[in-house]
Parts: sequence; structure tokens; C-alpha cells
Amino acid sequence: MSTDNPTLDTAPKTSNFIHQIIEGDLNGASAPTQIVTRFPPEPNGYLHIGHAKSICLNFGAADKYNGVCHLRFDDTNPEKESQEYIDAIKRDISWLGFKWHEEIKYTSSYFDQLYSWAVYLIEQGKAYVCDLDVEQARAYRGDFTTPGKNSPYRDRSIEEKIALFAKMIAADFAEGFCSLLAKIDMQSSNMNLRDPMLYRILNVSHHQTGDKWCIYPIYDFAHGQSDSIEGVTHSICTLEFEGHRPLYEWFLANLPVTNVPRQYEFSRLELNYTVTSKRKLKQLVDQNIVNGWDDPRMPTISGMRRRGFSAVAIRKFCEMVGVTRSNGVVDVSMLESAVRDDLESNAKRAMCVVDPLKITISNFADQACEMLSLAVHPKLDMGIRELPFSKHLFIEQQDFSEDTSLGRKKFKRLVIGDYVRLRGAYVIKADAVIKDEQGNVVEVLASLVPGTVGANPDPEFKPRGVIHWVSAEHAVPCELRIYDRLFTDANPDKNKEKSFTQLINPDSLQVISRAWAEPSLLEAQVEDGYQFERTGYFVADMDSTADKLVFNQTLPLRASKAK
Ligand code: ATP
Ligand code: MG
Repeated sequence: MSTDNPTLDTAPKTSNFIHQIIEGDLNGASAPTQIVTRFPPEPNGYLHIGHAKSICLNFGAADKYNGVCHLRFDDTNPEKESQEYIDAIKRDISWLGFKWHEEIKYTSSYFDQLYSWAVYLIEQGKAYVCDLDVEQARAYRGDFTTPGKNSPYRDRSIEEKIALFAKMIAADFAEGFCSLLAKIDMQSSNMNLRDPMLYRILNVSHHQTGDKWCIYPIYDFAHGQSDSIEGVTHSICTLEFEGHRPLYEWFLANLPVTNVPRQYEFSRLELNYTVTSKRKLKQLVDQNIVNGWDDPRMPTISGMRRRGFSAVAIRKFCEMVGVTRSNGVVDVSMLESAVRDDLESNAKRAMCVVDPLKITISNFADQACEMLSLAVHPKLDMGIRELPFSKHLFIEQQDFSEDTSLGRKKFKRLVIGDYVRLRGAYVIKADAVIKDEQGNVVEVLASLVPGTVGANPDPEFKPRGVIHWVSAEHAVPCELRIYDRLFTDANPDKNKEKSFTQLINPDSLQVISRAWAEPSLLEAQVEDGYQFERTGYFVADMDSTADKLVFNQTLPLRASKAK
């Protein structure tokens, strides 16, 4: 199950419109020698399922067409970024099974080049230092219905603009005092072309460049140029950047660049019962609503990983949702079903009793222990596991009933006077119960039918059904963490009355502090996934210690119909 180093085929099997564009380009007159894509996260949080879609698209397209994909940190907002996020993002991409080309790229490595391009635009009369403050600048820009007005600073002499920009970089001005803008068109119907900002003063250290800069480029001024520097051919981003494309193209057309990439947009992945915004996920972490970015309830890649979702299942899901230009909300049950399919075929099997009822086998010797061998997986050759059988066992409380009138079809479990098979072990019959003072059944006395391990019993001993069990003396105590959806609302960030932080499901985490696992689970490694028979899919958690195993429920065995 652990997919730390998956030797996997990560190229998508299906085709999408981006693939068709690439194929057209590869067959066209000016075909690029190689497809180059990039995944450009801002290191201001952990990656989530939406990013997984973008990763699968960018790295997947490169894989499919023998191209390469860069990992570039779009690090132009040092205030919100950190090395912790950079490390987490690298870890998540590798875990998903993808490899970036060459060394990791940083937009900040291009700050010198971007700076000289800014000077170039000033020299060409295409950029200017503007002293309007935020309020004034907003008023000058106008809005969708009102055209903008030219800034009074627009027509300063080129020499003055160059001198002012030099002062900006020399830290002569306070933050917000002025900024560098492109001189495009204040009347444009596209707001992005109304003299957009290129550089702002920001007196903060940068995680990569330290205190070298006190001005930082705006995303729009950095992105296309970074693509160009890296030789990107297909710059794939989400639809909200569609309106930025003319600006992306304006910079490339007005700068002395050799490589001109093209931008293509696709729709963001959105899931119901989920928020997919780093900013909002950070709020959940900062307000301690969840236990960190990798809380198994989080839609982060690290959260899903800890929850027991495999990289294969996540990639499969991303392929299932497809790549289009139409926005829509995907049902989270689709992701769960991709995960369940993967676990059903690949997870090891084990037994764990959550709510124990003691069974004593009267015809089994007191101190005896019989080792039984069970397949780790019913279909795959994953070896065998040893299971101790002894006089005292645990089964689930709910797998026993005193009611002898219950029909065999209705209750396929243990009933006084009738037979049931213990999974991988004997057929047993319940003979009598022992009760406490309140009349609760605390123990069931049973007898086994000899010769029924791995063999069908005579018809008279035919069992009602099969139940799971563990040997009471050998069982290992463990903690189970059961998760439900984090939000009670299907669209938590679109609710008009309440903020998403007020729509938290109070039962999203339920801790069962003591369940009883078969001893083979002592060997479970962190991230090993299991099907606990009849109970659910579980994964070993990193909080496990020598004294106590901890398992996260990945998903129940079946999708619940209510939701
Ligand atoms: P967020 O709002 O979560 O911070 P973002 O777009 O600001 O997302 P970036 O770090 O800039 O985050 O994203 C890196 C890449 O991932 C971008 O190309 C972006 O378009 C893509 N991406 C982000 N969210 C999604 C999503 N929900 N579906 C598909 N792609 C996404
Ligand atoms: Mg962003």
C-alpha cells in the first residue's frame, strides 16, 4: 500500500482538450522540439486536491508527450510564504509519483532579470513610477462600467521614472509610497490592462533572497516571463487567469524575450463538503479547528495521505474528473469511490474487534494456543498471516443475540443454540451466557466443532454466517480514529448566513480509544492500509507507539446512502 516510491505509469490514459492542443502543436509547422510544462505553486500553504488535478495535468501531459515539467515556486509574496510550505509541496508532489525536471525553480531566482526587464519597459516608455496611494489608484482605475483615468504621474520623463525606480530599489521610500506600473490602456474593457502594477515596495525578508530586495514583482509581471525563461511551451492554469492572458501576452510581446509560451486555461476542481483554498485551509489550521495541515479530515494531499488515500487513487480520481473549461462542483463521493475501489483490490485484510464480548470455548484446553494461517489478501498473493486461536476470544457485542427466535436469514451471527463460523477458524456454537448484576451479557460459553478449520462442517452444523474475532490473550489494544465529513454543509464556502468555520461537523472525529486488533497488526508500518474485515478500511497512523497502535479510518466499507 505504501506508495513512497511508486514505479508507476503516471501518463494519463484518457485524452483531454489540452492533450489535443499539444498534439496539434506537435504536428504543426512550428512544432516545439519538446513539450515543456510547469506546476507553479505559491509556497503559502499545503497543496490540496485541486492542486493534485493541476499536478496530474501538467506532469501527466509532459509524461504522455515525452516532454518535461518544471516545479517552480511562484514566490513573489514573501510575507505569506515559508520554507515549511516549500518542503511540504516537494514531498507531496514526489509522493503523488511525479518527478520535476532538473533542479527546482524559483521565481525569485529571476528577480534580477525581472528587474532589468522593468527598467527596459521604463526606457521604452511603457512603465512608470506612480505615487497614487491605494485609494486614489482605485478611483483612477474605474470599474467595469466606468473607464479609468490616466494617472498624473504617467507622463513623467523617462529619466525621472528611472531615477524614481532606482530610489524604490534603494529603499528610499516607505511601503506603499509609490509603485511601478505598466503603461497600457486605462480605458481598456479588460481591467487587467488598466496600467497594472509591476512592482511594489515591501520591506520584508524573503525566504530565498534574504534582504536583497525591498521591492517585489507582482504575479502577473513574473509569471509569463518565468515561463519564458524556462522554455515553457504550454503554460496551463485555471480559468480565473483567462482575463490575465492579454496581459501575459503583452509582457512577452513588449520584452526582448526569445521564447514565447502560450497560456491555456481549464476549470478549477471543486468538491462538495470541501473547501479548496489554501487561505481557508490555513484558517482551519490556525484556529485549531483541525489538528494541522495533515489532519486526515483535510483535503490536503498530506491529509489524504494520512487518511490512507493512495497516490494511485488520487491520480485515478483526477483523471476521472477530466479536464474541461466548464466549472462545476464534483461530488466528494466520487473521490471516495476511487479510494474504495483501490483499497478493495489492494488492501491487506485483518481483524479488529471494536466493542468486545468475551467468548469462552469450553472444549478448548486452558493454556492451549493454535496458530492458524490466513491469507493476507483473498485474491492477491500477499503472503499469509499467523493468527492465534485460544480458549478466550473477543467478538463484537452486536454479533451475538440471546434471541433464539431470530431467523437464520435475518441474523447471520451468533445465537444461543446455533452455529457461526469464526473467520479463518472454527465453526462454533453458543451454549450459554453469563450475565452481570444488571442482566447484561458479559460472556458467552461456546463450543467448537472439531475439524472445521478450512473445511465445511456436516450439514447439521451449518453456520448462520461468518463473524470476525480475535484471541483475547493475544489481541493488541489499539486506538481507532473515525472520520466523517468536516463540514455539515455541501457548499461550506458559499453559505450566505454562516462562514465556513461555523459549519464544522461536530462529529467529524470520533476516537475509539480501545479496540482489539489481531497481533499481526503489530507489524503495521505507518501508511499501511488494511481492510478490517466487516469494520472498515483503516490505515496505520504515525501517532502509533510501541504501547499503542493508532489507526485512522480511511472510509467505511460501503458508501452511506443517506448522504
Ligand atoms: P489557492 O486558492 O488554494 O491558494 P492558488 O491557485 O492560489 O490556489 P497556487 O499555488 O497559485 O494556488 O496554485 C498552483 C497551481 O495550481 C496553479 O496553476 C493553479 O491554477 C492550480 N490550482 C489551484 N487550485 C486549483 C484547483 N482547485 N483546481 C485545479 N487547479 C488548481
Ligand atoms: Mg495563487
